[in-house]
Amino acid sequence: MDTQTNTPEHGFCRDCLTPQTDVVRRCARCGSPRLLRHPELYRLHLAHIDCDAFYAAVEKRDNPALKDKPVIIGGGKRGVVSTACYIARINGVRSAMPMFKALEACPQAIVIKPNMEKYAQVGRDVRQMMQELTPQVEPISIDEAFLDLAGTQRLHNMPPALVLARFITRLEKEIGITASVGLSYCKFLAKVASDFRKPRGFSVIGEAEALEFLKPQPVTMIWGVGKAFASMLERDAIRTIGQLQTMNQAELMRNYGSMGIRLYHLSRGSDARQVTRERDTKSISAETTFDQDFGNSDDLVPVLRALSEKVSERLKKADLAGRTVVLKLKTADFKTRTRNRQLNDPTRLADRIFATGLELLRKEINGTKYRLLGIGVADLCDAEKADPPDLVDIQSHKRALAEEAMDRLRNKFGRAAVETGYTFGKGHRGKPVRTGEEQEPDIRHPWERN
Ligand SMILES: [Mg+2]
Repeated sequence: MDTQTNTPEHGFCRDCLTPQTDVVRRCARCGSPRLLRHPELYRLHLAHIDCDAFYAAVEKRDNPALKDKPVIIGGGKRGVVSTACYIARINGVRSAMPMFKALEACPQAIVIKPNMEKYAQVGRDVRQMMQELTPQVEPISIDEAFLDLAGTQRLHNMPPALVLARFITRLEKEIGITASVGLSYCKFLAKVASDFRKPRGFSVIGEAEALEFLKPQPVTMIWGVGKAFASMLERDAIRTIGQLQTMNQAELMRNYGSMGIRLYHLSRGSDARQVTRERDTKSISAETTFDQDFGNSDDLVPVLRALSEKVSERLKKADLAGRTVVLKLKTADFKTRTRNRQLNDPTRLADRIFATGLELLRKEINGTKYRLLGIGVADLCDAEKADPPDLVDIQSHKRALAEEAMDRLRNKFGRAAVETGYTFGKGHRGKPVRTGEEQEPDIRHPWERN
């Protein structure tokens, strides 16, 4: 495909990828109106890809009878909307909305309980396809990731914009779901762009237009500006990013501390964060929000075990190990507790992660009720250094060998093939339901910790 002679203003067709030779309304070849053009189209290489109404899309894919119906994923005792399809959204249904309200807005909606294992599998398939485009893939959640396609033109024989468009058509054909793309020169604006024309969007924000584009936007568009911070800005009569553009860094820092630095840079479309590969992550963790609050070990320990196995699985897949085990709890009144323990040697074994997590958990079982439990490892290193045969603790070495045998079975026959004494028959695995946003913060990056 000769894209050198094609000017960005003419762009290309998102459906058949044919470069357009003129400024036209429909593709000269396939007649599609989905033409993409932008002065920086063939220069930009930083993308954010976000699947559209992911959980609902997977359910619709698996049951075509749902295609034209409003579908809500969610429910359980907490009764909130996890994901709503676009038909339900048109009727006013939103993520994290209480289910009774959602059904008031859209009584004909079909409510489906989330099937996290299925979504995780589809998420992995999508990620694998992304990694065929570039090794620089940074997953943000189960269904979205940043991709840096710099230097891949030779490999693909086409510029990043076309590679991304081709990826989306492949995703639709092979996986059966849709996604939206944001293409820009920095992470902040790539993410903003992907959100711009959902579903099936492809938006480009170039360097030349960034300041003007940001000017009228609400401050909440800036990463890290949530409701609370926005109302703080509101008290200072600041509502738009344009207002922040007129303030200098000293002034912003004086008023808003370290957040002021972020406001200064992001409001000007300046974001130096790089796309970090999965293996560059600083910690790997898994967490679960319960259907109801739990306070005793009978309920908590099996979940800890299942989550430890999940973390271990991820470590093994990424050839990583970690030296610090981190336990995370959120109390019924939304207070977060984290407890750490450093190990003598880095580990990637579920058994060690679990045993250490259990020691930490025991101290927190004191009548307090928890709504969330998480476990993870930090201080990551290469797997080579992990779990040296422990001459003193023969038992733990035996357990390590047993775990490797279990892994082999699971790889062969699937996760359900082997259950440990802790999880067997407890029915906990897969049951805890993540509520609220369609996000799985399994992988945390330094900038995500606020
Ligand atoms: Mg999404």
